Amino acid sequence: MSKTLFEKIIDGEIPGDIVFEDDQCVAFRDINPTAPMHILLVPRKPIPRLCDATDEDAPVLGHMLRVAPQIAESQGLGDAFRLVINNGEKAGQTVFHLHLHIIGGRSLSWPPG
Ligand code: C5P
Repeated sequence: MSKTLFEKIIDGEIPGDIVFEDDQCVAFRDINPTAPMHILLVPRKPIPRLCDATDEDAPVLGHMLRVAPQIAESQGLGDAFRLVINNGEKAGQTVFHLHLHIIGGRSLSWPPG
């Protein structure tokens, strides 16, 4: 299996502006930010889509939800941030390595487009 784009960033084969990493996940700045703060939090394991995750993946998914607010805090967002997972092409997913968008730094309207 060839590496996903995000595996290449995690492995340093493609440049990435990494803001956080631990044994389970890595976070880096989105190359095309939709807000002043737009970070992608990615599990090291290349799960393609959220719907492909299994019970075995529950710990890393839970870990990501714990880590995301800490990253937001460390980036100065406080409690004003949004988490987004696009699942599947029709929902806007373009990179098929599960990732959590952490977005903030401007007012965010609802519902999203
Ligand atoms: O949810 P979706 O799959 O559309 O998100 C992929 C994200 O990956 C996009 O926001 C895009 O800007 C980002 N990206 C990146 N670095 C790349 C390629 C894509 O940050 N080299």
